[in-house]
Amino acid sequence: MTARSEYHQLYNLSAWRRRLRPQHLERQPLCQACLRRGLINDGSLTSAGVEQSNPRRRFLVVDHLIPHRGDRALFLDPSNLQTLCPDDHDQNKQRLETRGYSEERGDDGWPIDPQHPANQ
Ligand SMILES: [Zn+2]
Repeated sequence: MTARSEYHQLYNLSAWRRRLRPQHLERQPLCQACLRRGLINDGSLTSAGVEQSNPRRRFLVVDHLIPHRGDRALFLDPSNLQTLCPDDHDQNKQRLETRGYSEERGDDGWPIDPQHPANQ
């Protein structure tokens, strides 16, 4: 198991902060979960589509499709990233914590998390 501090250290890597994260947001500047529901959200809206009244939640999260669980290679894989608004990110995270796996699906509709029962 990876220690918790080590896990968080990944987010301090300059490869993440200066390159991967800003480059991803430039390429994908909208919440992908909102987009799937037909909502254009650049971080200024809630997941319900109304203006985000809390300025501290007016941003976009760069989320990992397959939970990296401290795995550096998975963490730094540009194809493992998606943009989410804070609402959708929280929801994803909660589901992940309850179930232990991500429900994210690839372009072929198949769950991409190796921990997903469909991949066991
Ligand atoms: Zn969203």
